[in-house]
Amino acid sequence: MRLVLVGPPGAGKGTQAVFIAECFEIPKISTGDIFRANVSGGTELGRMAKKYMDAGDLVPDEVTNAMVRDRLAQPDAKDGFLLDGFPRNVAQAGELDGILNELGAPLSVVLDLDVDFEEVVKRLSGRRTCKKCGHVWHLEYDAPAVAGICDKCGGELYQRDDDKPETVRHRLDVYAEQTAPLIGFYRDAGKLVAIDALGAVEDVTERAIAALTPYADA
Ligand code: AMP
Repeated sequence: MRLVLVGPPGAGKGTQAVFIAECFEIPKISTGDIFRANVSGGTELGRMAKKYMDAGDLVPDEVTNAMVRDRLAQPDAKDGFLLDGFPRNVAQAGELDGILNELGAPLSVVLDLDVDFEEVVKRLSGRRTCKKCGHVWHLEYDAPAVAGICDKCGGELYQRDDDKPETVRHRLDVYAEQTAPLIGFYRDAGKLVAIDALGAVEDVTERAIAALTPYADA
């Protein structure tokens, strides 16, 4: 299955992506994770991307598209993949179509995680990430036993710069202006399946898997 996840920041794409990728045995490719790994690793790409990420803006398309093109050419993506956080605008969607046409492997389906903006602000501003293992906790919905410490590995938790309230609002504006048009784009292409992404993580996973199963061998 060649799958794209869309939905506003905070819809739970990263969380659901892990379960969905595991269920369908496909690699999860998250552009946000790749950028963050480059920032932590101090690479040139990371240094360039950081200023856009901290401001809640999109990294320029040329950079992001080239990174995705390389990643999709890796052998593990040959029999399917889950893209989380890409495409983020209609130009990137066009580029993705081009890459996949060259590979002779069109998208199977696009899953839209539907959630309202008020909920998203609550989710993002309460989010805390482990510095060591990357696990994402939430102050209200999924708090660790000891405040500020990861239950899984004992690492220190931090708030992503781009989860601070002012940046969250800006990211939502960027989503509304640039990313939301993808929903119409993929609906017109007959690729879109939407699910309600409100509620417990495991309930949303169940809905996602049920919606995607018909596309598993597409
Ligand atoms: P995410 O973890 O998906 O919310 O991504 C974090 C940040 O990485 C975004 O706010 C952007 O600055 C950058 N980013 C991730 N994916 C893309 C993309 N497809 N195009 C441009 N910038 C991106």
